[in-house]
Amino acid sequence: MSHRQYDRIETPESLIASLRDMLGDRLSTAAAVLEQHGKDESWHAASPPDAVVFATSTEEVAKVVTLCAEHNVPIVPFGTGSSLEGHVAALRGGICIDLSRMDAILEVNNEDLDCRVQAGVTREQLNDHLRDTGLFFPIDPGANASIGGMTATRASGTNAVRYGTMRDNVLNLTVVTPDGKIIKTANRARKSSAGYDLTRLFVGSEGTLGVITEIALKLYGIPEAMSAAVCAFPSVDAAVDTVILTIQAGIPVARIEFLDEMQIRAINNYSKTDHKEAPTLFFEFHGTEAGVKEQAEFVQSVAEEFGAEAFQWATRQEDRNKLWAARHKAYYASLQLEPGKAGMPTDVCVPISKLAEAIRETRADCDASPLTCTIVGHVGDGNFHTLILLDPEDPAQMAEAKRLHDRMVERALKLGGTCTGEHGIGYGKLDFMEAEHGPDTIALMRAIKGAIDPKGLMNPGKLIPGL
Ligand SMILES: Cc1cc2nc3c(=O)[nH]c(=O)nc-3n(C[C@H](O)[C@H](O)[C@H](O)COP(=O)(O)OP(=O)(O)OC[C@H]3O[C@@H](n4cnc5c(N)ncnc54)[C@H](O)[C@@H]3O)c2cc1C
Repeated sequence: MSHRQYDRIETPESLIASLRDMLGDRLSTAAAVLEQHGKDESWHAASPPDAVVFATSTEEVAKVVTLCAEHNVPIVPFGTGSSLEGHVAALRGGICIDLSRMDAILEVNNEDLDCRVQAGVTREQLNDHLRDTGLFFPIDPGANASIGGMTATRASGTNAVRYGTMRDNVLNLTVVTPDGKIIKTANRARKSSAGYDLTRLFVGSEGTLGVITEIALKLYGIPEAMSAAVCAFPSVDAAVDTVILTIQAGIPVARIEFLDEMQIRAINNYSKTDHKEAPTLFFEFHGTEAGVKEQAEFVQSVAEEFGAEAFQWATRQEDRNKLWAARHKAYYASLQLEPGKAGMPTDVCVPISKLAEAIRETRADCDASPLTCTIVGHVGDGNFHTLILLDPEDPAQMAEAKRLHDRMVERALKLGGTCTGEHGIGYGKLDFMEAEHGPDTIALMRAIKGAIDPKGLMNPGKLIPGL
Protein backbone atom coordinates (compact mmCIF):
# COMPACT_ATOMS: atom_id res chain seq x y z
CA MET A 1 0.00 0.00 0.00
CA SER A 2 2.76 2.44 0.81
CA HIS A 3 4.70 1.86 -2.37
CA ARG A 4 2.07 2.59 -5.03
CA GLN A 5 4.06 3.95 -7.98
CA TYR A 6 3.00 6.66 -10.41
CA ASP A 7 4.89 8.32 -13.23
CA ARG A 8 5.79 11.85 -12.25
CA ILE A 9 4.74 14.62 -14.62
CA GLU A 10 7.61 17.00 -15.25
CA THR A 11 7.07 20.51 -13.91
CA PRO A 12 8.53 22.91 -16.52
CA GLU A 13 11.10 25.45 -15.30
CA SER A 14 9.05 28.13 -17.06
CA LEU A 15 6.13 27.47 -14.68
CA ILE A 16 8.38 27.67 -11.61
CA ALA A 17 9.83 30.93 -12.98
CA SER A 18 6.34 32.44 -13.53
CA LEU A 19 5.23 31.41 -10.04
CA ARG A 20 8.42 32.87 -8.55
CA ASP A 21 7.77 36.15 -10.39
CA MET A 22 4.30 36.25 -8.85
CA LEU A 23 5.11 35.07 -5.32
CA GLY A 24 8.79 35.84 -4.68
CA ASP A 25 9.98 34.01 -1.57
CA ARG A 26 6.53 32.56 -1.03
CA LEU A 27 7.58 29.85 -3.50
CA SER A 28 10.02 27.27 -2.20
CA THR A 29 11.97 24.45 -3.82
CA ALA A 30 14.12 23.79 -0.74
CA ALA A 31 14.51 20.04 -0.17
CA ALA A 32 13.31 20.17 3.45
CA VAL A 33 10.17 22.11 2.50
CA LEU A 34 9.38 19.71 -0.37
CA GLU A 35 9.94 16.69 1.91
CA GLN A 36 7.69 18.10 4.64
CA HIS A 37 4.88 18.79 2.15
CA GLY A 38 5.01 15.34 0.51
CA LYS A 39 4.38 13.44 3.72
CA ASP A 40 1.51 13.28 6.19
CA GLU A 41 1.55 11.99 9.79
CA SER A 42 1.18 8.32 8.82
CA TRP A 43 3.47 5.44 7.87
CA HIS A 44 2.81 5.96 4.12
CA ALA A 45 5.82 6.71 1.96
CA ALA A 46 6.47 10.36 1.09
CA SER A 47 6.26 11.78 -2.43
CA PRO A 48 7.47 15.40 -2.50
CA PRO A 49 6.05 18.03 -4.87
CA ASP A 50 8.39 19.95 -7.21
CA ALA A 51 7.61 23.29 -5.52
CA VAL A 52 5.52 24.62 -2.67
CA VAL A 53 3.65 27.91 -2.89
CA PHE A 54 2.38 29.71 0.20
CA ALA A 55 -0.80 31.45 -0.97
CA THR A 56 -2.30 34.44 0.84
CA SER A 57 -5.62 35.05 -0.97
CA THR A 58 -8.31 33.33 -3.01
CA GLU A 59 -7.33 35.41 -6.05
CA GLU A 60 -3.72 34.29 -5.71
CA VAL A 61 -4.79 30.63 -5.49
CA ALA A 62 -6.84 31.16 -8.66
CA LYS A 63 -3.80 32.58 -10.49
CA VAL A 64 -1.59 29.67 -9.36
CA VAL A 65 -4.21 27.11 -10.42
CA THR A 66 -4.68 28.82 -13.80
CA LEU A 67 -0.94 28.76 -14.46
CA CYS A 68 -0.64 25.09 -13.43
CA ALA A 69 -3.61 24.18 -15.64
CA GLU A 70 -2.02 25.99 -18.63
CA HIS A 71 1.12 23.87 -18.11
CA ASN A 72 -0.83 20.63 -17.33
CA VAL A 73 0.94 20.36 -13.99
CA PRO A 74 -0.66 18.61 -10.95
CA ILE A 75 -1.78 20.59 -7.90
CA VAL A 76 -1.91 19.29 -4.31
CA PRO A 77 -3.64 21.50 -1.69
CA PHE A 78 -2.05 21.36 1.79
CA GLY A 79 -3.45 22.38 5.18
CA THR A 80 -1.33 21.15 8.09
CA GLY A 81 -0.40 17.71 6.71
CA SER A 82 -2.01 15.82 9.62
CA SER A 83 -3.97 13.41 7.42
CA LEU A 84 -3.29 9.71 7.70
CA GLU A 85 -3.76 7.98 4.32
CA GLY A 86 -1.04 9.52 2.15
CA HIS A 87 -3.44 12.34 1.20
CA VAL A 88 -0.81 15.04 0.57
CA ALA A 89 1.79 12.89 -1.20
CA ALA A 90 2.47 14.46 -4.62
CA LEU A 91 2.30 11.10 -6.41
CA ARG A 92 2.79 12.70 -9.84
CA GLY A 93 4.90 15.62 -8.65
CA GLY A 94 3.65 19.14 -9.37
CA ILE A 95 2.87 22.17 -7.22
CA CYS A 96 1.74 22.01 -3.60
CA ILE A 97 -0.48 24.94 -2.58
CA ASP A 98 0.05 25.47 1.16
CA LEU A 99 -2.96 27.35 2.61
CA SER A 100 -1.53 27.88 6.11
CA ARG A 101 -0.92 31.61 5.56
CA MET A 102 -4.60 32.09 4.71
CA ASP A 103 -5.40 32.19 8.40
CA ALA A 104 -7.84 35.09 8.75
CA ILE A 105 -11.13 34.75 10.59
CA LEU A 106 -13.24 36.85 8.26
CA GLU A 107 -16.58 37.11 10.10
CA VAL A 108 -18.18 35.91 13.31
CA ASN A 109 -21.95 36.44 13.30
CA ASN A 110 -23.00 35.93 16.92
CA GLU A 111 -26.69 36.35 16.17
CA ASP A 112 -26.70 33.74 13.43
CA LEU A 113 -24.30 31.37 15.18
CA ASP A 114 -21.98 31.19 12.18
CA CYS A 115 -18.59 32.38 10.98
CA ARG A 116 -16.49 32.57 7.81
CA VAL A 117 -12.81 31.69 7.84
CA GLN A 118 -9.95 31.30 5.40
CA ALA A 119 -8.92 27.70 4.78
CA GLY A 120 -5.67 27.84 6.76
CA VAL A 121 -7.31 28.74 10.09
CA THR A 122 -6.83 25.83 12.51
CA ARG A 123 -9.55 24.51 14.77
CA GLU A 124 -7.69 25.61 17.92
CA GLN A 125 -7.08 29.08 16.48
CA LEU A 126 -10.80 29.44 15.75
CA ASN A 127 -11.79 28.39 19.26
CA ASP A 128 -9.19 30.72 20.83
CA HIS A 129 -10.68 33.55 18.78
CA LEU A 130 -14.23 32.63 19.84
CA ARG A 131 -13.37 32.29 23.55
CA ASP A 132 -14.96 35.60 24.64
CA THR A 133 -18.04 35.31 22.43
CA GLY A 134 -19.72 32.46 24.31
CA LEU A 135 -19.59 30.40 21.10
CA PHE A 136 -17.47 27.45 20.05
CA PHE A 137 -16.77 25.22 17.06
CA PRO A 138 -17.00 21.59 18.16
CA ILE A 139 -15.30 19.44 15.53
CA ASP A 140 -12.02 18.19 16.99
CA PRO A 141 -9.83 15.73 15.09
CA GLY A 142 -6.91 14.74 17.35
CA ALA A 143 -4.53 17.02 15.46
CA ASN A 144 -4.77 20.83 15.32
CA ALA A 145 -5.83 20.55 11.66
CA SER A 146 -6.80 23.38 9.31
CA ILE A 147 -10.47 24.05 8.66
CA GLY A 148 -9.73 23.66 4.91
CA GLY A 149 -8.14 20.23 5.47
CA MET A 150 -10.93 19.19 7.82
CA THR A 151 -13.48 20.20 5.19
CA ALA A 152 -11.56 18.37 2.46
CA THR A 153 -11.41 15.15 4.52
CA ARG A 154 -14.95 15.42 5.99
CA ALA A 155 -13.32 15.17 9.39
CA SER A 156 -14.92 14.61 12.74
CA GLY A 157 -13.77 13.73 16.24
CA THR A 158 -14.91 13.11 19.78
CA ASN A 159 -17.87 15.52 19.61
CA ALA A 160 -19.47 14.18 16.43
CA VAL A 161 -21.98 12.03 18.31
CA ARG A 162 -23.63 15.29 19.48
CA TYR A 163 -22.62 17.93 16.92
CA GLY A 164 -22.11 15.95 13.70
CA THR A 165 -19.12 15.97 11.34
CA MET A 166 -17.81 18.57 8.88
CA ARG A 167 -20.59 17.38 6.56
CA ASP A 168 -23.15 18.75 9.02
CA ASN A 169 -21.33 21.95 9.99
CA VAL A 170 -20.22 23.59 6.73
CA LEU A 171 -22.71 26.16 5.43
CA ASN A 172 -20.92 27.15 2.24
CA LEU A 173 -17.53 27.20 0.58
CA THR A 174 -15.49 29.40 -1.70
CA VAL A 175 -13.62 27.12 -4.09
CA VAL A 176 -11.06 27.65 -6.85
CA THR A 177 -12.02 25.12 -9.50
CA PRO A 178 -9.38 23.28 -11.57
CA ASP A 179 -9.72 25.82 -14.43
CA GLY A 180 -8.98 28.72 -12.06
CA LYS A 181 -12.54 30.03 -11.58
CA ILE A 182 -13.70 31.20 -8.15
CA ILE A 183 -17.11 29.80 -7.14
CA LYS A 184 -19.31 29.93 -4.06
CA THR A 185 -21.30 26.77 -3.32
CA ALA A 186 -24.23 28.29 -1.34
CA ASN A 187 -25.39 31.22 0.81
CA ARG A 188 -25.56 31.51 4.59
CA ALA A 189 -29.08 30.13 5.02
CA ARG A 190 -29.23 27.14 7.36
CA LYS A 191 -31.11 25.18 4.72
CA SER A 192 -31.69 25.48 1.01
CA SER A 193 -33.29 23.41 -1.75
CA ALA A 194 -31.69 25.43 -4.54
CA GLY A 195 -30.03 22.95 -6.86
CA TYR A 196 -27.29 20.34 -6.47
CA ASP A 197 -25.64 20.34 -3.06
CA LEU A 198 -22.17 21.40 -4.21
CA THR A 199 -21.13 22.22 -0.65
CA ARG A 200 -21.36 18.59 0.30
CA LEU A 201 -19.72 17.49 -2.96
CA PHE A 202 -16.59 19.44 -2.03
CA VAL A 203 -16.75 18.40 1.65
CA GLY A 204 -14.68 15.20 1.64
CA SER A 205 -13.28 15.68 -1.88
CA GLU A 206 -9.68 15.51 -0.58
CA GLY A 207 -8.35 18.19 -2.91
CA THR A 208 -9.40 16.22 -6.00
CA LEU A 209 -12.04 18.71 -7.25
CA GLY A 210 -10.63 22.13 -6.40
CA VAL A 211 -8.94 24.26 -3.75
CA ILE A 212 -11.21 25.37 -0.89
CA THR A 213 -10.20 28.88 0.14
CA GLU A 214 -13.00 30.03 2.48
CA ILE A 215 -15.43 28.14 4.66
CA ALA A 216 -18.60 29.30 6.43
CA LEU A 217 -19.26 27.20 9.53
CA LYS A 218 -22.00 26.69 12.08
CA LEU A 219 -21.11 27.67 15.65
CA TYR A 220 -22.70 26.65 18.93
CA GLY A 221 -23.32 28.37 22.27
CA ILE A 222 -21.02 27.11 25.03
CA PRO A 223 -23.34 24.94 27.15
CA GLU A 224 -24.39 26.20 30.57
CA ALA A 225 -23.07 23.04 32.22
CA MET A 226 -20.49 20.45 31.19
CA SER A 227 -19.09 17.51 33.04
CA ALA A 228 -16.84 14.64 32.06
CA ALA A 229 -16.30 11.22 33.58
CA VAL A 230 -14.10 8.16 33.21
CA CYS A 231 -15.40 4.68 33.88
CA ALA A 232 -13.65 1.29 33.79
CA PHE A 233 -15.51 -1.86 32.72
CA PRO A 234 -14.95 -5.57 33.36
CA SER A 235 -14.89 -6.37 29.60
CA VAL A 236 -14.91 -4.80 26.15
CA ASP A 237 -18.47 -6.09 25.68
CA ALA A 238 -19.68 -4.43 28.89
CA ALA A 239 -18.27 -1.06 27.80
CA VAL A 240 -19.63 -1.31 24.26
CA ASP A 241 -23.05 -2.53 25.40
CA THR A 242 -23.25 0.55 27.66
CA VAL A 243 -22.59 2.74 24.62
CA ILE A 244 -25.18 0.97 22.50
CA LEU A 245 -27.91 1.26 25.13
CA THR A 246 -27.08 4.92 25.79
CA ILE A 247 -27.33 5.82 22.11
CA GLN A 248 -30.44 3.71 21.54
CA ALA A 249 -32.11 5.49 24.50
CA GLY A 250 -31.51 8.82 22.73
CA ILE A 251 -29.30 10.28 25.48
CA PRO A 252 -27.62 13.33 23.87
CA VAL A 253 -24.09 12.62 25.18
CA ALA A 254 -21.55 15.12 23.85
CA ARG A 255 -18.69 12.62 23.85
CA ILE A 256 -18.51 8.89 24.45
CA GLU A 257 -15.08 7.45 23.72
CA PHE A 258 -13.89 3.86 24.12
CA LEU A 259 -10.27 2.98 24.97
CA ASP A 260 -9.18 -0.62 25.37
CA GLU A 261 -6.81 -1.87 28.05
CA MET A 262 -3.70 -1.53 25.87
CA GLN A 263 -4.66 2.05 24.91
CA ILE A 264 -5.14 2.98 28.58
CA ARG A 265 -1.69 1.56 29.36
CA ALA A 266 -0.23 3.69 26.54
CA ILE A 267 -1.99 6.85 27.76
CA ASN A 268 -0.95 6.29 31.39
CA ASN A 269 2.69 5.99 30.30
CA TYR A 270 2.61 8.92 27.90
CA SER A 271 0.35 11.44 29.69
CA LYS A 272 1.32 10.41 33.24
CA THR A 273 -2.27 9.53 34.18
CA ASP A 274 -3.30 6.66 36.46
CA HIS A 275 -6.45 5.22 34.91
CA LYS A 276 -7.14 1.57 35.71
CA GLU A 277 -5.84 -0.64 32.88
CA ALA A 278 -9.21 -1.95 31.71
CA PRO A 279 -11.67 -1.34 28.87
CA THR A 280 -12.76 2.23 29.59
CA LEU A 281 -15.25 4.87 28.48
CA PHE A 282 -14.60 8.62 28.62
CA PHE A 283 -17.86 10.61 28.69
CA GLU A 284 -18.79 14.26 28.41
CA PHE A 285 -22.25 15.70 29.01
CA HIS A 286 -23.43 19.15 27.85
CA GLY A 287 -26.64 21.03 28.67
CA THR A 288 -28.37 22.77 31.49
CA GLU A 289 -27.35 21.84 35.07
CA ALA A 290 -30.47 19.69 35.37
CA GLY A 291 -30.05 18.14 31.91
CA VAL A 292 -26.44 17.17 32.52
CA LYS A 293 -27.36 15.62 35.88
CA GLU A 294 -30.19 13.65 34.31
CA GLN A 295 -28.04 12.38 31.40
CA ALA A 296 -25.22 11.39 33.74
CA GLU A 297 -27.53 9.52 36.12
CA PHE A 298 -29.06 7.54 33.28
CA VAL A 299 -25.67 6.56 31.81
CA GLN A 300 -24.33 5.68 35.26
CA SER A 301 -27.25 3.33 35.89
CA VAL A 302 -26.74 1.62 32.52
CA ALA A 303 -23.01 1.27 33.18
CA GLU A 304 -23.67 -0.22 36.64
CA GLU A 305 -25.95 -2.83 35.05
CA PHE A 306 -22.97 -3.93 32.97
CA GLY A 307 -20.73 -4.19 36.04
CA ALA A 308 -18.84 -0.90 35.62
CA GLU A 309 -16.82 0.66 38.41
CA ALA A 310 -17.80 4.03 39.89
CA PHE A 311 -17.58 7.06 37.57
CA GLN A 312 -14.60 9.34 38.22
CA TRP A 313 -15.81 12.86 37.57
CA ALA A 314 -13.93 15.78 36.02
CA THR A 315 -16.14 18.83 36.54
CA ARG A 316 -13.47 21.56 36.68
CA GLN A 317 -12.46 22.83 33.24
CA GLU A 318 -8.75 22.15 33.83
CA ASP A 319 -9.50 18.49 34.73
CA ARG A 320 -11.68 18.10 31.64
CA ASN A 321 -8.97 19.67 29.48
CA LYS A 322 -6.41 17.23 30.92
CA LEU A 323 -8.67 14.26 30.22
CA TRP A 324 -9.34 15.23 26.60
CA ALA A 325 -5.74 16.24 25.97
CA ALA A 326 -4.72 12.71 27.00
CA ARG A 327 -7.39 11.29 24.67
CA HIS A 328 -6.25 13.46 21.76
CA LYS A 329 -2.68 12.23 22.26
CA ALA A 330 -3.74 8.56 22.12
CA TYR A 331 -2.05 8.10 18.71
CA TYR A 332 1.35 9.33 19.90
CA ALA A 333 0.91 7.47 23.21
CA SER A 334 0.38 4.21 21.32
CA LEU A 335 3.47 4.81 19.16
CA GLN A 336 5.52 5.09 22.37
CA LEU A 337 4.56 1.53 23.37
CA GLU A 338 7.23 0.39 20.88
CA PRO A 339 9.47 3.38 20.13
CA GLY A 340 10.91 3.38 16.62
CA LYS A 341 7.93 1.61 15.09
CA ALA A 342 5.35 3.23 12.82
CA GLY A 343 1.59 2.96 13.29
CA MET A 344 -0.99 1.79 10.75
CA PRO A 345 -4.28 3.40 11.83
CA THR A 346 -7.57 1.80 10.86
CA ASP A 347 -10.85 3.69 10.87
CA VAL A 348 -13.94 1.55 10.40
CA CYS A 349 -17.46 2.68 11.25
CA VAL A 350 -20.48 0.40 11.62
CA PRO A 351 -24.16 0.81 12.53
CA ILE A 352 -24.38 1.13 16.32
CA SER A 353 -26.21 -2.21 16.74
CA LYS A 354 -23.20 -3.98 15.17
CA LEU A 355 -20.55 -2.23 17.23
CA ALA A 356 -20.07 -4.91 19.91
CA GLU A 357 -19.58 -7.62 17.28
CA ALA A 358 -17.14 -5.49 15.28
CA ILE A 359 -14.98 -4.52 18.27
CA ARG A 360 -15.08 -7.98 19.90
CA GLU A 361 -13.90 -9.74 16.73
CA THR A 362 -11.29 -7.07 16.07
CA ARG A 363 -9.85 -7.41 19.59
CA ALA A 364 -9.74 -11.22 19.15
CA ASP A 365 -7.82 -10.77 15.87
CA CYS A 366 -5.40 -8.39 17.59
CA ASP A 367 -4.89 -10.75 20.55
CA ALA A 368 -4.05 -13.59 18.15
CA SER A 369 -1.54 -11.44 16.22
CA PRO A 370 2.16 -11.04 17.05
CA LEU A 371 1.79 -7.29 16.42
CA THR A 372 0.86 -4.84 19.20
CA CYS A 373 -2.45 -3.08 18.59
CA THR A 374 -4.43 -0.51 20.55
CA ILE A 375 -8.14 0.20 20.06
CA VAL A 376 -9.76 3.56 20.57
CA GLY A 377 -12.99 4.89 19.17
CA HIS A 378 -15.65 7.54 18.83
CA VAL A 379 -18.00 4.72 19.65
CA GLY A 380 -21.18 6.78 19.94
CA ASP A 381 -21.02 6.95 16.13
CA GLY A 382 -19.99 3.30 15.72
CA ASN A 383 -16.50 4.51 14.68
CA PHE A 384 -13.30 2.96 16.05
CA HIS A 385 -9.60 2.71 15.24
CA THR A 386 -6.93 0.14 15.89
CA LEU A 387 -3.38 1.39 15.72
CA ILE A 388 -1.20 -1.48 14.53
CA LEU A 389 2.46 -0.99 15.44
CA LEU A 390 4.90 -2.17 12.80
CA ASP A 391 8.23 -1.75 11.09
CA PRO A 392 7.33 -0.71 7.50
CA GLU A 393 10.68 -2.14 6.29
CA ASP A 394 9.79 -5.64 7.56
CA PRO A 395 7.71 -7.43 4.88
CA ALA A 396 6.34 -10.03 7.34
CA GLN A 397 5.07 -7.32 9.70
CA MET A 398 3.62 -5.34 6.79
CA ALA A 399 1.80 -8.44 5.51
CA GLU A 400 0.43 -9.21 8.98
CA ALA A 401 -0.73 -5.59 9.51
CA LYS A 402 -2.37 -5.57 6.08
CA ARG A 403 -4.10 -8.87 6.88
CA LEU A 404 -5.50 -7.45 10.13
CA HIS A 405 -6.56 -4.25 8.39
CA ASP A 406 -8.24 -6.10 5.51
CA ARG A 407 -10.17 -8.30 7.93
CA MET A 408 -11.41 -5.25 9.84
CA VAL A 409 -12.63 -3.59 6.68
CA GLU A 410 -14.25 -6.76 5.32
CA ARG A 411 -16.04 -7.20 8.62
CA ALA A 412 -17.19 -3.56 8.67
CA LEU A 413 -18.53 -3.79 5.11
CA LYS A 414 -20.31 -7.07 5.89
CA LEU A 415 -21.98 -5.33 8.85
CA GLY A 416 -23.19 -2.44 6.66
CA GLY A 417 -20.35 -0.10 7.60
CA THR A 418 -17.48 1.74 5.91
CA CYS A 419 -13.71 1.43 5.56
CA THR A 420 -13.29 4.98 6.87
CA GLY A 421 -15.49 6.87 9.29
CA GLU A 422 -13.42 10.06 9.23
CA HIS A 423 -9.82 9.81 7.97
CA GLY A 424 -10.72 9.48 4.29
CA ILE A 425 -9.24 7.51 1.39
CA GLY A 426 -6.06 9.32 0.27
CA TYR A 427 -4.16 6.60 -1.56
CA GLY A 428 -3.92 4.28 1.46
CA LYS A 429 -7.51 3.05 1.25
CA LEU A 430 -8.06 3.10 -2.53
CA ASP A 431 -8.18 -0.70 -2.64
CA PHE A 432 -11.36 -0.75 -0.52
CA MET A 433 -13.39 1.75 -2.57
CA GLU A 434 -14.85 -0.67 -5.11
CA ALA A 435 -15.76 -3.25 -2.46
CA GLU A 436 -17.56 -0.54 -0.48
CA HIS A 437 -19.36 1.24 -3.31
CA GLY A 438 -19.59 -1.18 -6.25
CA PRO A 439 -18.47 -0.51 -9.84
CA ASP A 440 -21.41 1.61 -10.98
CA THR A 441 -21.07 4.07 -8.09
CA ILE A 442 -17.32 4.32 -8.67
CA ALA A 443 -18.01 4.98 -12.37
CA LEU A 444 -20.32 7.85 -11.37
CA MET A 445 -17.63 9.28 -9.06
CA ARG A 446 -15.18 9.08 -11.99
CA ALA A 447 -17.68 10.91 -14.22
CA ILE A 448 -18.07 13.70 -11.64
CA LYS A 449 -14.28 14.00 -11.32
CA GLY A 450 -13.95 14.04 -15.14
CA ALA A 451 -16.59 16.79 -15.48
CA ILE A 452 -14.97 19.10 -12.91
CA ASP A 453 -11.30 18.25 -13.46
CA PRO A 454 -11.09 16.95 -17.07
CA LYS A 455 -7.28 17.17 -17.11
CA GLY A 456 -7.03 15.15 -13.88
CA LEU A 457 -4.66 17.67 -12.29
CA MET A 458 -6.18 18.01 -8.81
CA ASN A 459 -4.40 15.75 -6.29
CA PRO A 460 -4.00 12.87 -8.76
CA GLY A 461 -3.95 9.28 -7.52
CA LYS A 462 -6.27 9.95 -4.57
CA LEU A 463 -9.81 9.00 -3.57
CA ILE A 464 -10.97 7.30 -6.81
CA PRO A 465 -9.25 4.06 -7.84
CA GLY A 466 -7.71 3.89 -11.28
CA LEU A 467 -7.18 7.65 -11.80
C1 LIG B 1 -2.92 12.38 16.14
C2 LIG B 1 -3.95 12.49 15.08
C3 LIG B 1 -5.28 12.32 15.42
C4 LIG B 1 -6.27 12.45 14.44
N1 LIG B 1 -7.58 12.31 14.82
C5 LIG B 1 -8.55 12.48 13.91
C6 LIG B 1 -9.92 12.42 14.29
O1 LIG B 1 -10.26 12.19 15.44
N2 LIG B 1 -10.85 12.63 13.33
C7 LIG B 1 -10.52 12.90 12.03
O2 LIG B 1 -11.40 13.12 11.22
N3 LIG B 1 -9.22 12.94 11.64
C8 LIG B 1 -8.24 12.75 12.53
N4 LIG B 1 -6.93 12.83 12.15
C9 LIG B 1 -6.60 13.06 10.73
C10 LIG B 1 -6.42 14.54 10.32
O3 LIG B 1 -6.17 15.38 11.42
C11 LIG B 1 -7.64 15.01 9.54
O4 LIG B 1 -7.76 14.26 8.36
C12 LIG B 1 -7.62 16.51 9.19
O5 LIG B 1 -8.89 16.87 8.72
C13 LIG B 1 -6.57 16.88 8.14
O6 LIG B 1 -6.46 18.29 8.10
P1 LIG B 1 -5.12 18.99 7.59
O7 LIG B 1 -5.31 20.45 7.66
O8 LIG B 1 -3.95 18.45 8.29
O9 LIG B 1 -5.14 18.52 6.07
P2 LIG B 1 -3.94 17.97 5.19
O10 LIG B 1 -3.39 16.73 5.80
O11 LIG B 1 -2.99 19.05 4.88
O12 LIG B 1 -4.73 17.58 3.86
C14 LIG B 1 -5.67 16.55 3.87
C15 LIG B 1 -6.33 16.41 2.51
O13 LIG B 1 -7.13 17.55 2.25
C16 LIG B 1 -6.68 18.26 1.10
N5 LIG B 1 -6.78 19.69 1.44
C17 LIG B 1 -6.19 20.32 2.48
N6 LIG B 1 -6.55 21.62 2.48
C18 LIG B 1 -7.35 21.80 1.41
C19 LIG B 1 -8.03 22.91 0.85
N7 LIG B 1 -7.96 24.12 1.41
N8 LIG B 1 -8.76 22.74 -0.27
C20 LIG B 1 -8.85 21.52 -0.85
N9 LIG B 1 -8.24 20.43 -0.38
C21 LIG B 1 -7.50 20.57 0.75
C22 LIG B 1 -5.28 17.78 0.85
O14 LIG B 1 -4.95 17.86 -0.52
C23 LIG B 1 -5.35 16.35 1.34
O15 LIG B 1 -5.91 15.53 0.36
C24 LIG B 1 -5.92 12.71 13.09
C25 LIG B 1 -4.57 12.85 12.75
C26 LIG B 1 -3.59 12.75 13.72
C27 LIG B 1 -2.16 12.93 13.33
